[in-house]
Amino acid sequence: MELDTIVALATPAGVGAIGVIRVSGGKTIELVNGIFKGKDLASAKSHTIHLGTIRDEDVIVDEVLISLFKGPNSYTKEDVIEISCHGSPYIIQQLIKLILSKGARLAHPGEFTQRAFANGRFDLAQAEAVADLIASENESMHRAAMNQMRGGLSQEIKNLREELVHFASMIELELDFSEEDVEFASREDLKKLIYSLKGLITRLTESFTLGNAIKNGIPTVIAGKPNAGKSTLLNALLNEEKAIVSDIPGTTRDVIEDVINVEGIAFRFTDTAGIRTTEDKVEAIGVERTYAKMKEASVIIYLIDMIHDTLDDIQQQIAYLRDLDIPYLLIGNKLDQAKAEIQQQLAADGALFISASQKQNLEDLKAKLKELVSLDDFKTGNTIVTNMRHYESLQQTNDALDRVLNGIDQQITNDFLAMDIRHALHHLGEITGEITTDDLLDNIFSKFCIGK
Ligand code: GDP
Repeated sequence: MELDTIVALATPAGVGAIGVIRVSGGKTIELVNGIFKGKDLASAKSHTIHLGTIRDEDVIVDEVLISLFKGPNSYTKEDVIEISCHGSPYIIQQLIKLILSKGARLAHPGEFTQRAFANGRFDLAQAEAVADLIASENESMHRAAMNQMRGGLSQEIKNLREELVHFASMIELELDFSEEDVEFASREDLKKLIYSLKGLITRLTESFTLGNAIKNGIPTVIAGKPNAGKSTLLNALLNEEKAIVSDIPGTTRDVIEDVINVEGIAFRFTDTAGIRTTEDKVEAIGVERTYAKMKEASVIIYLIDMIHDTLDDIQQQIAYLRDLDIPYLLIGNKLDQAKAEIQQQLAADGALFISASQKQNLEDLKAKLKELVSLDDFKTGNTIVTNMRHYESLQQTNDALDRVLNGIDQQITNDFLAMDIRHALHHLGEITGEITTDDLLDNIFSKFCIGK
């Protein structure tokens, strides 16, 4: 079935130096040829660029450059033309109208990429990475998306599938000979294979913590007693007045979240209401939330007030912090007016000294922050799962494999084993798109930009 020829603006709306209009589908060349005065595009070679004019009857709409990609050597594997025109919203509107009047229709969001997927240009995980790539805002997001788009995750899933298919074929072979009660594979060997598959899956699912952190920012909490300077620090780091700074203890009651980039890694900050035991009801919510938030955090920046805190108090706070077993930075704040004995004590505890209000030593703080997060998988270029959908499918694969292991132990019949293996294969197939539903595809591609 031949699909419609689709058209969309691929560059952002608004005035720009150049606008790029994309056309894809079986009638692309015939359609554009009809309005383009220049070289005959039907006889031109693929991957060539042509200067000419686009005309509506006798009126020249614009002088343009046509980039010609003949299927299957194009993004969608269909014939694709990209028209680079002058970036005036008026010109762009006229050109798109003209192309529509010749029989194309407006593309849906992500439809070019959806066609690329449907035509086998890449699998679903790779198609999803295209959206992540466009949305990437820093080095780590960019690297994870690029790796996925180039097939890093897909290859791992493919290897897993191959091993499982091998397993399934042995079981099914036994099914064929079920009358004769033969065993082609020792149950111990089968279990070993499942364990090794589960090991690979676990590595991937564990990478999701990092992947999620890369995509959404590493959950970071700035904690400390009221008035330690948390809001001031957050403001300094965000460089804008997002948190309420106040002299009254406990006024920062709402949890405020924001993200900063430190050398290519996003940290998602959660400002909290200060930790102290209190009778005040409203404040108590804040304190509970602070403990909860600290426990949820991947990284804690803990501030000590070097003007007002007492030595005893500091020991208690540090002891609590150590017990949490979460990477933390111990920070002595208010360096500008610090009490000497407090600073001495904190130095022995390995604290870093800053002044939030004077913006002193904040670069050191950022450097230490980056050191705290372990990005080993990232550095070694291992595949990182960044997508919740993939994570869930991997979990379901793992569950199905657990049922297979259980089944072997309980000596259930081969047809039940085979069914659980098929479930595992099914969930792996969901990641790369061998198994899809229209709803799933709509859901994924509707989040793309129009024109991609
Ligand atoms: P929070 O309750 O922990 O969020 O504390 P705030 O950020 O609201 O700060 C409490 C008070 O400490 C404010 O008056 C700040 O101006 C002050 N403060 C914050 N950082 C510093 C600093 O580095 N030096 C001095 N001297 N005062 C600071």
